[in-house]
Amino acid sequence: MKILILSRRGTLYSTRRFTKASLQLGHHVMVLDPLRCVVVVAKDAGAIYVKDKPLETPDVVLPRIGASITDYGLATVSQLELIGLPVVNSSQSIIASRDKLRCLQILAMNGVAVPRTIMCRDARNLDQILGLVGGTPVIVKLIQGAQGVGVMMADSRGSLEGLLDTVWNLGREVLIQEYVPESKGEDLRVLVVGGEVIGVIRRIARAGEFRSNIHKGGEAKAVDVPQSYRDLAVAAARALALNIAGVDIIESKSGPKVMEVNSSPGFEGLERATGQDVARKIIEYTVQYAEKAKERKKAA
Ligand code: ADP
Ligand code: MG
Repeated sequence: MKILILSRRGTLYSTRRFTKASLQLGHHVMVLDPLRCVVVVAKDAGAIYVKDKPLETPDVVLPRIGASITDYGLATVSQLELIGLPVVNSSQSIIASRDKLRCLQILAMNGVAVPRTIMCRDARNLDQILGLVGGTPVIVKLIQGAQGVGVMMADSRGSLEGLLDTVWNLGREVLIQEYVPESKGEDLRVLVVGGEVIGVIRRIARAGEFRSNIHKGGEAKAVDVPQSYRDLAVAAARALALNIAGVDIIESKSGPKVMEVNSSPGFEGLERATGQDVARKIIEYTVQYAEKAKERKKAA
């Protein structure tokens, strides 16, 4: 089978691991930087060119446009769908998950527990607004951000006001979220593939940091979690229609809550902490997905 990995660089950990796993399983693999794609839109003749040549048609596409989910990257993913290729995470589901507020709205709508979150564009009623999320400290997040970048804490009403003024003046939207102090800088990352949990780690923030992201120096530990946590992660992935999802869960005193769902989850921490071959599992699923898509096409 020919697997196309859409990724900015072949040298990234996950891309390297996917390439290795694909070859070990006897597949052909191509790594394509979405920015090198030329998208051609035309009635019945849509195409993708790489430089001046039409893209060699793969059997399946695995989009890995996590840290660089740009409009361009997304346009490439939807073009691959438009020309009829099976894409493991759809452009629509990637779009929904990259917007943190939209993601939380979809989760809440589907009965998934989330931290209380507000979006506003006016600081006049800040006291009432703060009351809705339990007062300071609060967490402030840029609507789009990943790897801990754009996630801040405001300790007081004054610092929140300054922060909001700054981000609004930069033309950015933020959400204000209840701070979960009992998490103590720890959270759980649950990797869901094809509706099944394939691994869980606890991430522990480095000293003096509340963000547990591995990219922010967080440490990963293999853990086991209750079935209810697994069910929550699977429900979150399903709500966003993501076949491959990294679900971030925070443990609050009122139970586990989903903070966000990532459509191109990294798994270096997970592989190191658990010794599992996560890349292989994802490639195996990708191949299955392509086979099912082919059968559906034949039946239609
Ligand atoms: P990113 O996309 O940058 O990973 P997240 O929403 O996952 O954004 O937040 C990054 C990290 O910040 C989380 O992994 C968690 O450790 C911490 N964090 C996020 N929201 C909260 C919260 N409401 N209370 C306490 N810690 C939080
Ligand atoms: Mg996260």
